[in-house]
Amino acid sequence: MRETDKRSVAVMALGGTIAMVKGKGGEKGGVVPTLAGEALVAAVPGLDAVADVHAQSFRQLPSAQLGYDDLDGLAAAIGQLDNGGCDGVVVTQGTDTIEETAFVLDRLLDLEMPVVVTGAMRNPTEVGADGPANLLAAVRVASSEAVRGMGCVVVFNDEIHAARFVRKTHTSRLDTFQSPACGRIGWITEDRVRVVARVPRMPVVRGPVTRNDARVALVKIALGDRGEQVRALQGAGFSALVVEATGGGHVPREVADALEAAARAMPVVLASRTGSGEVLAHTYGFPGSETDLLRRGLIRAGWLDGLKAKALLTLLLRRESRTSAQVAEAFAAWA
Ligand code: ASP
Repeated sequence: MRETDKRSVAVMALGGTIAMVKGKGGEKGGVVPTLAGEALVAAVPGLDAVADVHAQSFRQLPSAQLGYDDLDGLAAAIGQLDNGGCDGVVVTQGTDTIEETAFVLDRLLDLEMPVVVTGAMRNPTEVGADGPANLLAAVRVASSEAVRGMGCVVVFNDEIHAARFVRKTHTSRLDTFQSPACGRIGWITEDRVRVVARVPRMPVVRGPVTRNDARVALVKIALGDRGEQVRALQGAGFSALVVEATGGGHVPREVADALEAAARAMPVVLASRTGSGEVLAHTYGFPGSETDLLRRGLIRAGWLDGLKAKALLTLLLRRESRTSAQVAEAFAAWA
């Protein structure tokens, strides 16, 4: 511990609602990302009593405009902070894509140092803005021992969620972040950080980015589908496909034919559209069932949902893991 007895926490601001106020359109226009990291930190009373906080503005974007180049850059910057003796990092960003970005950081970083992602559902101009409380809670978690060595976590609404499980489940409520598979792993009460379930480290994706134009399609299957959307994707510039099948991994018979053809040309990963639970491996035997699709060359996403499967696949394709066999090997850890 340093002389001040305070941990050093870096806040990396990426934009999002937590940083949004009215833009050039004035009262008539909507809110846009505006506030720098320093302003976010300054808006939290008592933060300096919790940690030595250093803010930097890494990006100023709505989170749907973040991309994999941003996240690879962010992971590298966080790695440098770790090397420089920082005790914890808080990333502030838009909530819309947190379930993907936090998972990406979790896959790219192999650190003991806590990395905590947070944001806000209500912007700073709204009554009951939640940004300052979320940031305070996130800094408490980042400066505690509680989540060290557990990878990336999301802190929101005084709850702690593992990046691998968390999902945005509501368009506007403050308790939008949930982990349907297994629930929160901890919470913050007063100044205490409580972790009640530890998650093991999962494999990270290593190696330099050698290709940054890899495109992964994500298709959700619905009642009555015949596979046209899967066929239309071929020749459209995608390097891989994630299919969110119904239930435990099932599709209509015609879709199975289209997926088999796709799997001959690129890695095709089978996830479930239910949002929780594992893709089955050996229960059903009808055409279009999980056993049929796996026999036709699809790769099980295991317990990763479609968005996280797409994120993992994108990280692999950006590096040297591009064949179906390499992708299957990486997904085996989750399946
Ligand atoms: N509604 C979003 C947010 O919560 C906007 C974004 O994701 O940037 O920050």
